[in-house]
Amino acid sequence: MSKNKSSESVKVVVRCRPLSRKEESNGPAGGIVQMDLRLGQVILRNPRAPPSEPQKTFTFDAVYDANSKQRELYDESVRPLIDSVLGGFNGTIFAYGQTGTGKTYTMQGAWLDPERRGVIPNAFDHIFTHISRSQSDKQYLVRASYLEIYREEVRDLLDPNHGNARALELRENPDTGVYVQDLTSCVCKSIKEIEEVMNVGNQARAVGATDMNEHSSRSHALFLITVECSQPGPDGRKHIRVGRLNLVDLAGSERQAKTGVQGERLKEAAKINLSLSALGNVISALADGRSGHVPYRDSKLTRLLQDSLGGNAKTVMVATLGPAPQHYDETLTTLRYANRAKNIQNQPRVNEDPKDALLREFQREIARLRAQLNHRKWRSKQKSEQVEDESWDGDQEKEIEAEEDEEVEKEGEDYMKLEEQRLEREKEAIRGDQDLIPDEKQKLLGEKERMMVDLRKEQEATEQLTAKYKAMESKLLVGGKNIIDHTNEQQKMLEIKRQEIAEQTRKEREIQQQVLIQDEETLELRETFTSLQQEVEAKTKKLKKLYAKLQAIKVEIKDVNDEHVRSRQELEQTQNELTRELKFKYLIIENFIPPEEKNKIMNRLVFDPEEDQWKFQSLVPAESKSSQMKIRPASAVGYKRPISQYARVAIAMGGHSRYRAENIMFLELDMTPPNTASVDCSKHGEPNQSPSVDSSPTKEKGVRKSQSWCQTPKSMTSSPSNVSLAACHTATPAAAHGRLTDFSVRPTAGTQTHHHHLC
Ligand code: ADP
Ligand code: MG
Repeated sequence: MSKNKSSESVKVVVRCRPLSRKEESNGPAGGIVQMDLRLGQVILRNPRAPPSEPQKTFTFDAVYDANSKQRELYDESVRPLIDSVLGGFNGTIFAYGQTGTGKTYTMQGAWLDPERRGVIPNAFDHIFTHISRSQSDKQYLVRASYLEIYREEVRDLLDPNHGNARALELRENPDTGVYVQDLTSCVCKSIKEIEEVMNVGNQARAVGATDMNEHSSRSHALFLITVECSQPGPDGRKHIRVGRLNLVDLAGSERQAKTGVQGERLKEAAKINLSLSALGNVISALADGRSGHVPYRDSKLTRLLQDSLGGNAKTVMVATLGPAPQHYDETLTTLRYANRAKNIQNQPRVNEDPKDALLREFQREIARLRAQLNHRKWRSKQKSEQVEDESWDGDQEKEIEAEEDEEVEKEGEDYMKLEEQRLEREKEAIRGDQDLIPDEKQKLLGEKERMMVDLRKEQEATEQLTAKYKAMESKLLVGGKNIIDHTNEQQKMLEIKRQEIAEQTRKEREIQQQVLIQDEETLELRETFTSLQQEVEAKTKKLKKLYAKLQAIKVEIKDVNDEHVRSRQELEQTQNELTRELKFKYLIIENFIPPEEKNKIMNRLVFDPEEDQWKFQSLVPAESKSSQMKIRPASAVGYKRPISQYARVAIAMGGHSRYRAENIMFLELDMTPPNTASVDCSKHGEPNQSPSVDSSPTKEKGVRKSQSWCQTPKSMTSSPSNVSLAACHTATPAAAHGRLTDFSVRPTAGTQTHHHHLC
């Protein structure tokens, strides 16, 4: 990847949680993780290695030890990112680490305790406080979505019937990148509303899971916030900036055990591992920078996070660690993973005036409603003025439009009231008028009454329009207006100071890290040697230092190789098992499925590049679908099925109770004479010969051919049963058009009829 001017690397911070009570009771060994907060370094001790082995050191953008506060992490490492999102950048924060190391604690934390609120609730506060403090010429629209990826399926957590909803599909838009089709997105007007959205999603997540811990350790949760902001630019037009924020709580990074499991369980474990290994591969490919191909398409997670890794976004990765010795291997893997991610370069840029900005649509809709409303108001005003004064000036419409909403609204209401009063007065006058004939009086009164009704209708319509307009407008947050900021000046100052301190700490750490690097490089230059002896000593010292470094790197290489071999073995094992299963399926196909059936299925298969998998083509071509498929109304749920002529008659006549209201055809029994002639066996003297087997011409005369209706369709045409069949068909055309799916004959004892059931 070439480094261009606007590129910046992924920020990686590491957090270590305190020893849990259980771990403390396990032994006095203590933690294996040490942190240098000033330098941003993590020092990891191998509990199994001899003390002589050098400890492993990793440097990150920031590190947070067991005593770190949620607030510190937010102010130092997350706040700048959220500020960028509010300015129109895309931003992503993801928590990566073994299960139980504090990913969810870091992202969500304890909501009710202000000290322990995590990144997400703090981000909510931040966003809405920012809006409340911004200038009043800015308009904001905030939306939130919540989804999870479980077993490579994307599920909408805000969908009310989340449990049985279909998995959502990913789609790609050349302008905005990858998105989730049909994902619910909620417009949020306040902190309370967006917290509600989060709660709903969290509950949906817990409901589907039998064991919440197990489930959350195997699924990825993505909370998405879109902040759109419109502000008049120097050219006088309103410009829209869209910032998208992804808050990601990944599945536990430990590999799901695959040994000993088979079939569904194996596939599930493979799928759960898939997203995380794909993420690892993407990070490696990007960090390496040499390989041109980045395997984003290998998993749903990497496709969704494509922008956040090497694309148009600012990204922060929080790697979480546990300090317990028994998890040394996992901790080391996490640190390596995080270390690699540091090298990813992103190219963030402000999203200015994108085509799909919802805010623009909202503004248009609001303007439309407003125009409609104004037009209504103007019409009523025009009417009222016509009543008072017949001369009217056409320019007045514009005048009204220029007026403030509220004034127009008030005027409209006033007019309605006045009109009502006027009509009442007129009615009174008519009643009181002695000159009128009662008939005419009644007519006039009726007319006035009608006018009153019209007026009320008009008023109702206006009210509805006003309500819609207001609801629409309330969704747009105006800077410094809709949300009341309760913090006082002193608190605000305190906040600002705290942010400054956080910024200062960050800069300090950066400088420290740079100094450290430069020190190593320039040490040698500064040294001047007075004697040979001194030179030898200094060089020996340096040699030792470098030797230690070399050893550390050798160990590192060995570790990485071991890890590589391990994961390779695992992959091979998975491949073997999957191959075995594939062979098994082939065996079934070859031995039990007729080749023509197989071919039929094969011909229907098409590859869907969007979804990256094979799919079945529908049996009916899309264009003829509408004409062919629609003529089955009977199967449509909620519709009554057609009733046959017979059933209608039966209902009317109160016929046999068993078949009343059933779709039955009435068929006369075929009364052709018996089809066998009695054979006098004794006469021929061949008692063993069966008449049915015998087909010699001598017997032909005695045996008549069967005339059963189902064997000879010709006889059916002449049979009386056909009459009722035809009648039935004309009575229920739907039945004639393919509803004749199951045609069973039920002879009923005692009666000489056949009842043919149409199902
Ligand atoms: P994960 O989501 O990674 O599986 P959790 O966030 O559920 O892990 O954390 C596991 C436990 O550790 C929780 O009980 C949590 O309260 C606790 N914990 C995690 N990180 C911290 C921390 N920094 N300080 C205090 N407790 C923590
Ligand atoms: Mg968790």
